[in-house]
Amino acid sequence: MVTQRAYRFRFYPTPTQQRQLAIEFGHARFVWNWALETRTEAYQEHGESLNTIRLSRKLTAMKKGEYPWLSEATAGCHTQKLRDQDTAFRNFFAGRARYPRFKSRHHTQSVRYQLDQRHVAKNFNAESKLLKLPKLGALKLKWSRKINGIPKMVTVSKDPCGRYFASMACEVEILPLPAKRNAVGVDVGIKDVVITSEGYKSGAPKYTYRYARQLKMAQRRLSSKKKGSQRRRRQQVRVARIHARIKDSRRDFLHQQSNRLINENQVIGLEDLNIKGMLRNRRLSKAIADCGLYELRRQIEYKAAWYGRDVLIVDRWAPTSKTCSACGAVQESMPLKVRDWVCECGAVHDRDINAAQNVLFFGTAGSAGTSKARGAVKTPRAVA
Ligand SMILES: [Zn+2]
Repeated sequence: MVTQRAYRFRFYPTPTQQRQLAIEFGHARFVWNWALETRTEAYQEHGESLNTIRLSRKLTAMKKGEYPWLSEATAGCHTQKLRDQDTAFRNFFAGRARYPRFKSRHHTQSVRYQLDQRHVAKNFNAESKLLKLPKLGALKLKWSRKINGIPKMVTVSKDPCGRYFASMACEVEILPLPAKRNAVGVDVGIKDVVITSEGYKSGAPKYTYRYARQLKMAQRRLSSKKKGSQRRRRQQVRVARIHARIKDSRRDFLHQQSNRLINENQVIGLEDLNIKGMLRNRRLSKAIADCGLYELRRQIEYKAAWYGRDVLIVDRWAPTSKTCSACGAVQESMPLKVRDWVCECGAVHDRDINAAQNVLFFGTAGSAGTSKARGAVKTPRAVA
């Protein structure tokens, strides 16, 4: 299967490169904000909608007229910013996103370069991980991963804690993994992000609690600093750094979990998360977003497509928690606080593992030919 695969490399620019990047970022931000203002005005006053081509023409005129300094930055990056804004507006009109917002210099900065395909071999050396960009020269990328394929675009960014990254998407061919015979049901949660029908419990990302405490303290310190002061600025960077660490460790954790499920199983049963309903419950939705349950599902689905695995989605109304996975008896109620229970048939259940076993049962029973009788599903922790 041929697919787009994203790669992200960290790099450490020289002081000269840092200065040039500051110019690139600043100008890209100026172009974005100027285009947003121009567009909004044109729409509100004349009902006109402007696109990249017309804005690009205006921008060229500005470079010749009142804003000659705009030529200090790479022109191609400006066009890419205008295209990004086109996409942002398309997403807004399709109801997928909020109205595009002005960019501040305190958030992540980015510029995108289109790589000239005729010279791409000269611009990008996958072996030595050297990337040559206009006005910047060669960037030395750091990451232990080998890249396959030739990138068409490169996005260079600086996050709020001052780290620089180069991201690129390449077309790569992915070969399916050898078929397996295993099928697994997965229940997701907050204390254990992944619970499987085989009795595996993942726990939560290792550093969650420690970072949560650090973050709380750092944020408290931030709120005590005077607005606009140098000290406040520095504290903002500290807060951003903790956020970045949380995000990184969560991402690593989710990839570990999804890789494990994909490597070991041919069929993976998942419960459909009621996304809209859960988002209405604000506390729950924050917890779910924090553990990255949507991200986990996304990873499992795209990796399954890459490697030839099957994902079965179980209807969210299926009584996965209330059903005994050994005999099929449905309990009247199963309050969240009940962690272990005993069925009339004698089976002793761990709430989450039982639910995962039911996810597997409902998932495979739904598809013809694979349905199996109750009791065929193994219950490792069942004690008669
Ligand atoms: Zn039972």
